[in-house]
Amino acid sequence: MTCGEVQPFIEDYADNSLDEHRKKQVKEHIDSCPDCQSDFDITVQLKTLLRAFSTEEPECDYFEKATALIIAKISGDAGQSGEVH
Ligand SMILES: [Zn+2]
Repeated sequence: MTCGEVQPFIEDYADNSLDEHRKKQVKEHIDSCPDCQSDFDITVQLKTLLRAFSTEEPECDYFEKATALIIAKISGDAGQSGEVH
């Protein structure tokens, strides 16, 4: 496989969601190609980071609440400009 052929599969390879045949082809290329090796490393690191964030459920809740607060504040300020509580 060429780098161009391997690139679309790097993310799936990092997810370990390729079938055995494709996985073997991608692995063989990555093992022999420093460029794709580093792309793969970066992809794995990004996924690890994303996973660390996405597993923190309270954080999703926090953003929802923060967004609601911001919207309330914006619409509140618009309705009563100049008034200080
Ligand atoms: Zn390559």
